[in-house]
Amino acid sequence: MTLQLRNISLAYPDGADTRTILDHVDLDIVAGEAVAVAGQSGSGKSTLLAIAGLLLSPDDGTVVIAGKPATGLSTKASTSIRRNHIGIIYQASNLFPALTCREQLELVAHLDGRLDHTMRKRATQLLCQVGLEQRIDARPAQLSGGERQRVGIARALMNQPELLLADEPTASLDPERGAALMTMLLGQASAHATALLIVSHTLEQLPSNVRRLDLDNGRLSPSTSVLIGR
Ligand code: ADP
Ligand code: MG
Repeated sequence: MTLQLRNISLAYPDGADTRTILDHVDLDIVAGEAVAVAGQSGSGKSTLLAIAGLLLSPDDGTVVIAGKPATGLSTKASTSIRRNHIGIIYQASNLFPALTCREQLELVAHLDGRLDHTMRKRATQLLCQVGLEQRIDARPAQLSGGERQRVGIARALMNQPELLLADEPTASLDPERGAALMTMLLGQASAHATALLIVSHTLEQLPSNVRRLDLDNGRLSPSTSVLIGR
């Protein structure tokens, strides 16, 4: 699935003034491609990702998902696109305190009446894949920040998303595990023709073949940072 952002602008009110966060941003990600956007804290990375994930409407511009304009839809329609096609790894893992790791992953299938043996098996497999086989029945309060982040990564992969949006996905992880999980996300994207957008203040853990962009002053441009080849 492809993601196209066309001429996206967004400003937030700032006292009597407004502050432009995204200024006519264009971005294309094709199926199976990974794009990484770097920018300082406050540069608008999470805002960009929320717009791509249909969680936030831009002031101007269009989000096109799989060739179809997806801006200005009803909440119901955008929720349906998100549930069926998009996986989001949130910056704060957004887990439900009362649910175990397994239940976090199974929740959407449960609500949709689709929770069967295959889905349960998939939840277990994904939790094992992110190294949480010992923590499957633990609740968020019993987990470290890094473990919560890994639950968030596994959960985003549950619906086999065609578009995967990752907000600082490895920020709470040690460098070695962070790099391993980045490799896993990139592997998932290329194996399942997923379009992958990663936003992060640092892109050090990414292999050098990932397309990199900088977000600065509301504009996206090809990255000028020196690559540390892996
Ligand atoms: P990043 O993820 O790059 O750190 P964000 O996209 O979270 O940046 O935020 C970009 C800027 O917009 C920040 O300065 C932030 O304070 C501001 N901002 C984010 N959400 C809101 C909001 N709902 N209202 C006003 N300002 C906001
Ligand atoms: Mg952010």
